[in-house]
Amino acid sequence: MATDVVLSSLRLMVIDDDLFIHELLAMNLEEIGIIQSTFCQGGKEALKKIDGGGIFDVILVDLKMPEMDGIEVIRNLAARNYPGSILLLSAEDNKILMAVKSLADAHRLNVLGALSKPVPTDILKKNLMHSLEQSKNLAIKPLSLVSADDLKEAIVNEQIVPYFQPKIEIGSKKLHSAEVLARWNHPTKGVISPISFISVAEESGLIDALTHSIFRQALAQLDRWRTSTHPDILLSINLSTDSLSSIDLPEQIEDLASINNVPCSSIALEITETRLIENMAASLDVLTRIRLKGFALSIDDFGTGYSSLSQLKNIPFTELKIDRAFVNGASKNHAAKAILESSIELGKKLNMLIVAEGVETLEDWELLAKLNCDLAQGYFIAKPLPAEGFTDWISSWQNAAF
Ligand code: C2E
Ligand code: CA
Ligand code: CA
Repeated sequence: MATDVVLSSLRLMVIDDDLFIHELLAMNLEEIGIIQSTFCQGGKEALKKIDGGGIFDVILVDLKMPEMDGIEVIRNLAARNYPGSILLLSAEDNKILMAVKSLADAHRLNVLGALSKPVPTDILKKNLMHSLEQSKNLAIKPLSLVSADDLKEAIVNEQIVPYFQPKIEIGSKKLHSAEVLARWNHPTKGVISPISFISVAEESGLIDALTHSIFRQALAQLDRWRTSTHPDILLSINLSTDSLSSIDLPEQIEDLASINNVPCSSIALEITETRLIENMAASLDVLTRIRLKGFALSIDDFGTGYSSLSQLKNIPFTELKIDRAFVNGASKNHAAKAILESSIELGKKLNMLIVAEGVETLEDWELLAKLNCDLAQGYFIAKPLPAEGFTDWISSWQNAAF
């Protein structure tokens, strides 16, 4: 049958410490027609295979394992930008599985679902078929398709351009600022997402050149807006934690602001929470000097890392951006809503501006208004837009009523 032929092309990995489960799954998989499967007894062995160049379309991972548990495996897969699917294997209750699923979602991993052991063959087959469907729909190609050489050329030729996504004051519905998001305007492949090239830039030492180019283009645009239609608009720009090791970063961005006639106070720098903790000591010096120069500082993707606000309170952050995993659909998801609510409350206590990202529906917006969140960003308001599109969008937003 056609589906079996396609299934046979899937490269599968099973990570489970229980050899009996290996045997059962091997029989299941043979029955379904999967011929390329790799069995590992723990996370370390699995990661070694992946780091050694092994490519897997689907990884089945047990949650409870002695040496490295399933959550740690997930965190490690996230750090490697694993582009395939994940199926959780567990005997745990549904609440735990849901929590693990939100964690994986927060790391932008593609978790198909959770299966309780032993797994019936028909359910396994259904899930694997679903994985195949999803991979066909994936707009983003795996990272390996972007080479460092091509990326370097793209940076030099200014093919990496800033897009702008509005951040709106929830109380007044007024435009507050725009987040700058990089896009690769590829001459033949179309617009490429930053998910495909930011980590390549970080790994190949191109990130500073990329950041510099984005800053230059975005600040020139900010100057144009400030001196024409939008004198009060602010910009948020993403900064890789890798750049925080350059001791003269604060001076570099101050110079860029001054060349473009924009005050440092009209720029916020967003730094992802997860990787910040790893480099806390080295970053503290640079971040404090960035603040002293008057730039705003934002903790991005809040909730996806393992920090608490008390760990972060020593860094002079001015803004807290709650990750979309806890925003999108929060009105219907009790656990997400609880995290959202307590993040807003804590951030307010520390006098931070609270931003919710990934606002996709009116229900999300209304919940945020009720919880007194300051700013909203997301597809409900607008997708990231090129500069011209953003200017057009502003006029249409001013006439919008909801
Ligand atoms: P981020 O900083 O968390 O940016 C928010 C991401 O969420 C963006 O993805 C944005 O397009 C997407 N988004 C916005 N609203 C919604 C929504 O309502 N629903 C959903 N599902 N998604 C929404 P994007 O543009 O693909 O960027 C991905 C990540 O790449 C960014 O995540 C950021 O970490 C990184 N990045 C982008 N531009 C730069 C850059 O210039 N420098 C650095 N260092 N990183 C960048
Ligand atoms: Ca961001
Ligand atoms: Ca974010």
